[in-house]
Amino acid sequence: MHLTDSHAHVYSEQFKPDQEAMLLRALEAGVRTIYMPNIDHTSIDALLETEARHPQQCQAMMGLHPCSVGKHFERQLYEVEDWLGRRPFAAVGECGIDLYWDQSHLPEQQEALRIQLAMARQHRLPVVLHTRNAFRQTADLVTAAQDGTLRGVFHCFSGTLAEAEEVIRLGFKLGIGGVATFKNGGLDQVLPHVGLEHLLLETDCPYLAPAPHRGKRNEPAYLPLVAHRVAELLGKDVEEVAEATTRTTQELFGQGDGVTGNK
Ligand SMILES: [Zn+2]
Repeated sequence: MHLTDSHAHVYSEQFKPDQEAMLLRALEAGVRTIYMPNIDHTSIDALLETEARHPQQCQAMMGLHPCSVGKHFERQLYEVEDWLGRRPFAAVGECGIDLYWDQSHLPEQQEALRIQLAMARQHRLPVVLHTRNAFRQTADLVTAAQDGTLRGVFHCFSGTLAEAEEVIRLGFKLGIGGVATFKNGGLDQVLPHVGLEHLLLETDCPYLAPAPHRGKRNEPAYLPLVAHRVAELLGKDVEEVAEATTRTTQELFGQGDGVTGNK
């Protein structure tokens, strides 16, 4: 089984003690490709070092997370733009709007998202969206920026069926992670009505570990738990889910550099 983790912070401090062993466990679980979203200027070194050490398995993205958007977000976005011009990245991200912890920076978060959507269009890159308690605000900005070329994923999707349908109409994919395995996650009401071709699998590690590891540190080796749950909800074979989501992720993020063709 070949799985692709479309969203994993495997460069995180939390993996410092055992990063090599953790990435090996991922390989042994069939997770051969891992896409790594950036957070902010403090995470770039670890992100790029991880990719340099594991160029076959780990692919970097570049962007600014909404929880890192403060007063001086413009300076951070210059750095993102600078990196995007310097070398290839799989996507712009993660970016978006997060009103869960703090709502005081909503205008700045909206402006940072607008700018990053423009960067994605300019660089012809997909965009990885983070949205928490802010689906409406995020979808409105994506709708406004959609010129027919913008594509990407609403990562860690946990919304309603109507929201899932809106994402699909926007030409975007749904990133499905550990929430699908939670008893009260709500995705059992959504996924049976959504086509497999619209889904990517993700861990969002070290966060959001799937059941039965809920609350503990998450890692890509747990991705098969998500794949099995998605297969169950869709009434499909887990092999088919693994193959389809891997193909969809590679079509979205792959840059034809040979990495995506590995068997
Ligand atoms: Zn993330």
